[in-house]
Formats: sequence, C-alpha cells, structure tokens
Amino acid sequence: MTLGRNFRWLIAAGLTSLALGAHAQVKSLNIYSARHYQTDEALYLEFSRATGIPIKRVDADDSAVLARLHSEGSASPADVVLLVDAARLWRAEIDGLFQPVRSKVLETRIPASLRGKDDGAGSQWFGFSTRARVIVYNKASVRKEDADTYAELADPKNRGKVCTRSGSHPYNLSLFGAQLEQLGEAKTEQWLRGVVANMARPPVGGDTDQIKAVASGECQIALTNTYYLARLMRSDKAEDRAVVEKVGMVFPDQAGAGTHVNVAGGAVAKNAPNRAAAVLFLEYLASDAAQAYFANGNNEWPAVKGLKIANPALEAMGPFKAESISIAIIGMNQVKVQRLLDRVGYK
Ligand code: FE
Repeated sequence: MTLGRNFRWLIAAGLTSLALGAHAQVKSLNIYSARHYQTDEALYLEFSRATGIPIKRVDADDSAVLARLHSEGSASPADVVLLVDAARLWRAEIDGLFQPVRSKVLETRIPASLRGKDDGAGSQWFGFSTRARVIVYNKASVRKEDADTYAELADPKNRGKVCTRSGSHPYNLSLFGAQLEQLGEAKTEQWLRGVVANMARPPVGGDTDQIKAVASGECQIALTNTYYLARLMRSDKAEDRAVVEKVGMVFPDQAGAGTHVNVAGGAVAKNAPNRAAAVLFLEYLASDAAQAYFANGNNEWPAVKGLKIANPALEAMGPFKAESISIAIIGMNQVKVQRLLDRVGYK
C-alpha cells in the first residue's frame, strides 16, 4: 500500500464526491469503530496521508457503538460507523442510525449482496470484507468427518467436546440466525440444546481462546471466525505455531447449505457533520489498496471481486461453498435466537 497509489485513486474516484477544496474545511473525520483489529491503524493512517483529513476514532464493540449513537442522537459527532457483524449493520439500518449513500464508486465495487437497503436514495451501508464461521477440531482426538457440519456440534457422539464463546456474541447470534432460517424454530432449539449438552466448559473468552482450548485438549471442537485462525497460522510466535499444529479446520456444511459467512462494513452516520468526507472514507475502503489491506492485514476476504490476494493463510484455507441467506433475514432472526438461547440455557 503506497501513498502514490492511494493518491491516484483519490484523484480518480474521490473528486467525484468531494471537491478538493472541501478537504481543507474538514477538521477531523469522526469514526465510531467496532473493528477491534490492531493492524487497522495503518488503514486509517493511509487515508489521512492521502487526504490530509485527520481521523478521530471511538473504539467500542458493536452494541456499545450503537448505544452511543442512540444516546447522542442528532448531536452525535459520528461521521462514519464501522461494525463487524451483518446483523448489527442491519439493526442500525432499521433503527435509522445511518443515512443513504449514493456513490458510483461503491456501487461499482461492492456487490449488491453486501450492501444495505436501498430505497432509491442509495444504500444504507456497505460491506468491505467477509469472514467465515468455521469449525476447528483437535486432530489427535477428533476425526474430521465427525465435525464437518454445524449439526454435529449437537450430536451426542461429541458429548463433552465442544467449546464456544458466548452464545449471545454477534458472531454466534448471526450463525444461529442462519440456522434458524434453515431448520425452523423447533429444530434450532433442539440443535442449540444439543450444543449446550456437548459443552466441555461454559462459554468463556473469544474465538482465539476457543482455538487454544482445542489445542490444549481442554475441549476438542470449537467455532471460530477464519481470521483468528489465519492470524495464528501467520504468527511468528512458536507457541502460536504449536497451537496451529494441533488443530484442524473445516468449512462446515459443504455438502449442504454451505458455511456461514459474516460481513464487516461501514456506513455514514445519520447526523454526520462531515458527510462528504465520510463518503470519501467509505470509497477509500473499497479501493484496491484498502481491500488488499483487509486481506493481508486482518486476513479477511475482500468484498471487491477479482482482487488478487497474497495471503498464504487464506490461500491454505482454500475455496469453499458459502451459505446464501440474506443479511436482513439473519438480522430479523436475532431476537428469536436470543429467546432460544435463554430457553436452552446457552450463556
Ligand atoms: Fe472479531
């Protein structure tokens, strides 16, 4: 990612949405971000270098970002909102926290399936990267064919072997919301009950903690987003490599509906004081340089199709069949899913 490359991109695309003179007026671009990835720093820096617009960032998790936007209302200084879960993007759209964006750059670069609702004035949000929710297993104690479907997480043959982070975490709520769409309510409740019955320990920690627990043998089978595993695969710490050695990874449901995929994305905040600069930032996130960054820096798949990515971990994972369930449906299912989790005692 070079300054020159980004700057050329700015001239080509940015000027369509923002007169250069307006840059000088923008004191800072305020970003509310739920992206919790250290390496994102470079991404923001690159934008500031290319445009001269400093970025002020508020970091929190998805629900805290949304709560803050709600409580600040029309006085909110937020220009850009970045979230790491499709259902949260959908929720914010429904709650009117975003404003529509019409952008030739974004509409050309970001596939329609990775964009929010468009009532004619533009899309409410744009997905910039995707990640899959996969199963990892202890290679010494579990056969791949016993853990290559989501259904098997609940199979009695895997009793005492499963660990996951909290069921109420957005990554799990979205996966379970997709299951609800495929199985219906009764079967999903039964499935969740089975997952809880199979747990080696109560839900604790994040996805990386589950991978490590599988490696240590505390549990045998776990769920994780792909980039957490890729991060360990690419780590130069010996202890991370030792973890990866012990763990197998499988894209679940390849013979069925496909693996659950989630999206990280962004939007212009409803009351953005710097709207034009906010749109420019989203356009920047769709640029080749920023997209390559998502792939190489945080091990996510770029939303822009046809980009060559040079990430050995993503390449090693190989191509896979992804489920095709609309983000709106997954979003709408979340309330029902939370009720099911409460009913089956999934913490
Ligand atoms: Fe994450």
